[in-house]
Amino acid sequence: MFATLSDRLADTFRNLRGKGRLSEADIDATAREIRIALLEADVALPVVKEFVGAVKERARGEEVSGALNPAQQIIKIVDEELVAILGGETRRLRYAKSGPTVILLAGLQGAGKTTLAAKLALWLKEQGKTPMLVACDLQRPNAVQQLQVNGERVGVPVFAPAPGNGVGNPVEVAKESIEEAKRRLHDVVIVDTAGRLGVDAELMQQAADIRDAVQPDEVLFVVDAMIGQDAVQTAQAFLDGVGFDGVVLTKLDGDARGGAALSIASVTGRPVMFASNGEKMTDFDLFHPDRMASRILDMGDVLTLIEQAEKTFDQEQAAKAAGKLFGGQGEFTLDDFLEQMQQVRKLGSMSKIMGMLPGMGQFREQLENFDEREIDRIQAIIQSMTPAERANPKMIDGSRRLRIAKGSGRTVTDVNALVDRFFEARKMMQQMAKGGGMPGMPGMPG
Ligand code: GDP
Repeated sequence: MFATLSDRLADTFRNLRGKGRLSEADIDATAREIRIALLEADVALPVVKEFVGAVKERARGEEVSGALNPAQQIIKIVDEELVAILGGETRRLRYAKSGPTVILLAGLQGAGKTTLAAKLALWLKEQGKTPMLVACDLQRPNAVQQLQVNGERVGVPVFAPAPGNGVGNPVEVAKESIEEAKRRLHDVVIVDTAGRLGVDAELMQQAADIRDAVQPDEVLFVVDAMIGQDAVQTAQAFLDGVGFDGVVLTKLDGDARGGAALSIASVTGRPVMFASNGEKMTDFDLFHPDRMASRILDMGDVLTLIEQAEKTFDQEQAAKAAGKLFGGQGEFTLDDFLEQMQQVRKLGSMSKIMGMLPGMGQFREQLENFDEREIDRIQAIIQSMTPAERANPKMIDGSRRLRIAKGSGRTVTDVNALVDRFFEARKMMQQMAKGGGMPGMPGMPG
């Protein structure tokens, strides 16, 4: 999900790279591109308008014109606005003060409600709760059985009308289930209701009747993120017909364009609370607007890193290093290399910093084993070189390497490794400056 949107936004930001100041025309062009990117991703028009308007207004303001790197500032704004339309802070479940917490699920048939009910039950169980599932979808053949199968998979009991009693009345079943939950000391009751293929009055009425009967603490609207633009209309219909407190997006693992996910919270004013992203019972979690935004911008948790860097780094030094890194202003030297490492170190442990970069998850184990003293060793070696050597490491020959090794208490192999690493790093940075952005970070402009 969101691949196209991510790519388009990355292209947009790439066009801003290297610009020291943004003209009115730059801002207009960027706004236009963001608008197209969102529309192509199926984001609802009113949401797009509001989003682009907010980004544009902020882009004209002080925070961008005064910024060291306007393009990066624009990304930060887009990120913050994305978080805002996704509902802002992560909204957690509200539990009842006394008696069982009742969660009512509503949504269209096929939205993934029954699957979600079990996923939610498992998640609650892992939070130390003792949930019970209630089968009130008595319309769809097999719905009860499906919930029972799923309940068994996650080890959560299912309350359902006894078989052979005809179709049964879902409102009665729901009411009885609360009594049963109290008797059996379940602290959360998850009520699965019937869905139809399309919105219809009878369906809405039934869900509303169940709602009135069980007085839920939370009504969650379950919606398939793959249904695109329709999701917004459906959400609106459920909001009017049943009302809900939060949204659960399912099938986020699909390759749909993701506009539904970006529109629903904004259009309905109800936050997305959970996300379901796969067929496995564990493919489910709290929805974090900030992480989703980062994912869309393909930034890992780089924003936190940028924020921390802004706080920690000496701005002037940072600008100088950035100029050398990305702008081709002067040659990147061993002094810069060392200075950077010392700056980065102020941010915290290497493993923590690297862990915030996108695509670094695969190196987690190596990062955890990273020896922080390595930086001291590098520092000793670099400081044993002459200023001329630090500026131009190419001139360090065999006999000098031996002297440097002796001077720093390291071996020639260590010195060789460092010099090789430096040249490797410099080459990589030059490539980045040319190709734009860091590898795996298409959004990062210079
Ligand atoms: P209900 O009619 O709303 O109860 O929907 P179901 O729970 O029966 O789900 C409909 C279909 O979607 C089933 O085939 C599920 O396996 C599938 N499904 C549910 N959630 C997800 C999800 O997050 N990802 C994927 N890929 N499939 C899902």
